[in-house]
Amino acid sequence: MKFSNMLIPTLKEAPKDAVLPSHIYLVRGGFIYQVASGIYDFLPLGKRVLDKVRAIVKEELDTAGCQEVQLGLVTPAELWKKSGRYEKYGAELLRFEDRKGNEFVLGPTHEEMMVEMVKQFVGSYKQLPMNLYQINLKFRDEARPRFGLMRGREFIMKDGYSFHADQEDMVREFELMEATYRKIFTRMGLDFRVVEADSGAIGGEGSKEFMVLADSGEDTIVVCEGCDYGANIEAAVRKAPEAPAEAPEAELNRFRTPGIKSIEELSKFFSVDPYYLVKAVAKKALYDGGKSEIVIFYLRGSDELQEVKAANAVGANELEDASEEELRAAGLTPGFMGPIELIRNAGVIEGAPTFREEAAHPNVRQVFDENLKNADHMICGANEEDYHLVGCDLSVLKDVTFKDIAQTQEGDACARCGGRLHYTKGIEVGHIFQLGTRYSEPLEATFLDANGKRKPFEMGTYGIGVSRLLAAIIEQHHDEKGCVWPAPVAPFEAVVVIGNVKDQQQKEAGEKIYDALKEAGVDVLLDDRSERFGFKMKDFELIGFPCAVVVGKKLADGVVEVIERSTLEREDVAIERAVDAVKAKLA
Ligand code: ATP
Ligand code: MG
Repeated sequence: MKFSNMLIPTLKEAPKDAVLPSHIYLVRGGFIYQVASGIYDFLPLGKRVLDKVRAIVKEELDTAGCQEVQLGLVTPAELWKKSGRYEKYGAELLRFEDRKGNEFVLGPTHEEMMVEMVKQFVGSYKQLPMNLYQINLKFRDEARPRFGLMRGREFIMKDGYSFHADQEDMVREFELMEATYRKIFTRMGLDFRVVEADSGAIGGEGSKEFMVLADSGEDTIVVCEGCDYGANIEAAVRKAPEAPAEAPEAELNRFRTPGIKSIEELSKFFSVDPYYLVKAVAKKALYDGGKSEIVIFYLRGSDELQEVKAANAVGANELEDASEEELRAAGLTPGFMGPIELIRNAGVIEGAPTFREEAAHPNVRQVFDENLKNADHMICGANEEDYHLVGCDLSVLKDVTFKDIAQTQEGDACARCGGRLHYTKGIEVGHIFQLGTRYSEPLEATFLDANGKRKPFEMGTYGIGVSRLLAAIIEQHHDEKGCVWPAPVAPFEAVVVIGNVKDQQQKEAGEKIYDALKEAGVDVLLDDRSERFGFKMKDFELIGFPCAVVVGKKLADGVVEVIERSTLEREDVAIERAVDAVKAKLA
């Protein structure tokens, strides 16, 4: 390929809204072009990278025994209604009607469609297992499309779905996919971590994310300094924190705490470590079908609520902040909320100051963090303006729900090895998930097992953000001048730059080296533009081909320059050795 013939519109200026290096360099390097918010065209160089990324994904999946298919982007709404996701998916799902009034959605993911297809053609255990995937467009009407290819509305995903006769076989495939994904991301030159992820109601270790480590990542991941434990903060667990030495021992009683509402104020007021305070966080939990309720989540004052864990704990789709009016309407006293059972007990203490009866009786769902199990000597709200309870023993609570709803903090101890946990940032490029029968059951996708019994398929689902990978690669591989593509995914492996195309000798020598490199199997571009030399070198640095051969003034001595993009080191090489030198750099 000749640069002069290609559409490579490199730019001096970055788009105004671009903050991440990947966004800036992919636009400035002429890889992508923004059509609308979150919608990008791939220009020739971008398409070449995309194809290389795609090819690596395909090669490894095919080696692992997966089969490629291609499903439509437009999918019938009926299937989404059947699976229960038509409403649940919320505003990210783009719904529309055709001219006859039939309802459709643009596929944000394809569980429903793949299950429907397999249901038509697979009916016996003898046809299992089966793993089908596609590398295709997705559409999600994201609330905040941003960072270029990182979070688009239209984007390219590899989505795979596996079908099994039993759970054991599904777990085997899940592990095979983990190993396959590791190979894929390693081949792309990425530094990544495989972490435990939120798996909603399913729980356990049935969901893992592949995180490319980068400060710009939108996900916080918790990693252990002592072992290889890693988890998304939404799913991270820890060893129960140690109790500070001094517990505020007291008889259960009400205590006047005028205007003392926050954990900080309370801790100061009583001179007590927040560990011994009960933090009450009231949220509005949103469920299917537009239902909602107020839930109080209780934690130690030294902990923060993890909202994804908390939503899972009550089976809600989402949690929203509750307003003061909503809390009061539910019989709660903002700033002074506390475990209602205890307040009832405290209410009957003899000789205690007068008690507002109704404070003890709001009928609200309550969830306690598991770290409050059997907690003693606690201080909590009395659900009455300006009052707290001291000397609370939570072990007297009966029939209450304890769940892990606290956020793991930096410095907490690893549940596995006791090592120190710390935070780091990651870009999610892949997600593998043990689905079980979540879709096969409602969509009535069944097969006959070895005993002639009809059963729903056990399923796994596996995603890779193919277009997001271009951004993730650049987040890890760039410098202040531009992209530094790892050779396996570079738009071209090398560029031959003719210093001055008006110089016939340079032109001929450049073309000769270009031909020889092609012959040797190097994916090479010839920069034959009649631009200034400096301009062409700036483009080389911005676009980030792994290697350049510069045919310039030294040609008179039979010498060309070979430059490695990652180090920008220059080496004088005899013209006949140019091909070997490039191959050595690429190896
Ligand atoms: P995120 O938490 O980043 O929104 P997700 O959990 O919604 O991701 P999945 O539904 O698991 O993502 O999709 C599989 C993969 O597709 C993700 O791991 C990610 O790499 C990619 N992906 C998801 N949303 C987008 C998007 N808006 N733009 C580009 N890639 C995306
Ligand atoms: Mg998402």
